[in-house]
Amino acid sequence: CGIVGYIGTNDTKDVLLNGLEKLEYRGYDSAGIATLNGEGLHLSKVKGRIATLREKVDKGIETKLGIGHTRWATHGEPSEDNAHPHQSVSGRFTLVHNGVIENYYELRDQYLTEVNLVSETDTEIVVQLMDLFYKETNNVLTAFRKTMSLLKGSYAIALIDAEDQDVIYVAKSKSPLLVGLGEGFNLVASDAMATLKETDTYLEIEDKEVVLVKRQEVQIQKFDGTEVVRAPYKAEIDA
Ligand code: GLU
Repeated sequence: CGIVGYIGTNDTKDVLLNGLEKLEYRGYDSAGIATLNGEGLHLSKVKGRIATLREKVDKGIETKLGIGHTRWATHGEPSEDNAHPHQSVSGRFTLVHNGVIENYYELRDQYLTEVNLVSETDTEIVVQLMDLFYKETNNVLTAFRKTMSLLKGSYAIALIDAEDQDVIYVAKSKSPLLVGLGEGFNLVASDAMATLKETDTYLEIEDKEVVLVKRQEVQIQKFDGTEVVRAPYKAEIDA
């Protein structure tokens, strides 16, 4: 029921965990974060509270980008396996998702009959499609656009690539998601509440756009690759 992502120059854990705590009021049954550095991907998930997640996250690991999630289960019981972030079989792609993928059975039967799924969620289908389309196209952005264009239903998605520490891939349709802008860092969140400590400047994302959130810039494009130019806005919200 909530998403937070951060890419910057400071350590990621606290930004993500503090952001998720700000989203606790929306309700959730499990939570998790995935962060990335030169050693690879670090994944922590729990059924239950953010406080429990905080205890589980390795304090010794420094990372400069990551994604976090609070889940309100719609497909698959609340459990550690079903908690987000979800990872592709290759280990390369990891994502968080809010919403419901209505055509996930169809997508599974059409594209993923060979894949051993590890969760019962509609979400996992999305990340496994990334593996498949990356193999086909050898291009992460093309694979992301193709994956997003096949989804029916509601989604806010943030994805990281274990081979690239410089971008978070983002897309939405009928679920809230926005980009928060900073100096040398940027954020993504399902609710501005999660980012108020870091910024008051936001960039709106429209349905069916693909957004590349980097440290120094944010690129928006349509599913067909056309660039979109949009001005940021300042929000006056009391924390
Ligand atoms: N449908 C997804 C799931 O059940 C996402 C739920 C959510 O928005 O938290 O895992």
